[in-house]
Amino acid sequence: MTSEFNDFRACNNEKMLRRIIQALRKRDFEAEYFADAISANDTLLKMIPDNSRVGIGGSVTIRELRVIEQLEKRGNEVTHHWKPEITKETNRAIRQKEGTADFYLTSANAITEQGDIINIDGIGNRVAHMIYGPDNVIIIAGSNKIVPDIEAGIRRSREIAGVINAKRVGVKTPCAETGKCVDCKAPARICRVTTIMQYRPWQTNIKVMLINEILGF
Ligand code: SF4
Repeated sequence: MTSEFNDFRACNNEKMLRRIIQALRKRDFEAEYFADAISANDTLLKMIPDNSRVGIGGSVTIRELRVIEQLEKRGNEVTHHWKPEITKETNRAIRQKEGTADFYLTSANAITEQGDIINIDGIGNRVAHMIYGPDNVIIIAGSNKIVPDIEAGIRRSREIAGVINAKRVGVKTPCAETGKCVDCKAPARICRVTTIMQYRPWQTNIKVMLINEILGF
């Protein structure tokens, strides 16, 4: 929504995101601020050589950036399991291939003000590749992913990201029906693996790009 107050919101969010960037750096992550998705996109396209292979995690943020189309157009080999031609039989192999790419692009369910990166997965490929996958991992997140602490981050991961994703993938869970997480025990529960990256793991190269926009769930 455009309004004459947007600049105030953006300015306040910038200050907040720049604080989180300092917190992430103290946790040994590389971190950078972007005013908008367009400038983040430009940087990504410059950072990733056009002959490198790119794996993409299950991430609405990355799709909203529209970077996949641009990478493919200029010749990067992009592997991701949301392609319509992926079948039940090829799904696991594709997810594994994502983890062998040169670059892995994903988002996070929540990032705390202290620099913790929180995710909840149903399968675990995304968090596995983030922690010990490709040589270069880039986590891209909008201002909506910022939370005060770990408890709020886990709550956000289930009550916002989990609930909306359950609806998106069309599973039979209480949240997909009602829009509310009840920490269910449904056979189709999608919240199965919780990770908290408190510091950059040794032997990894993880960069966090924080964008002053609402992106993903
Ligand atoms: S209701 Fe179940 S599947 Fe839905 S967000 Fe909560 S724990 Fe996850």
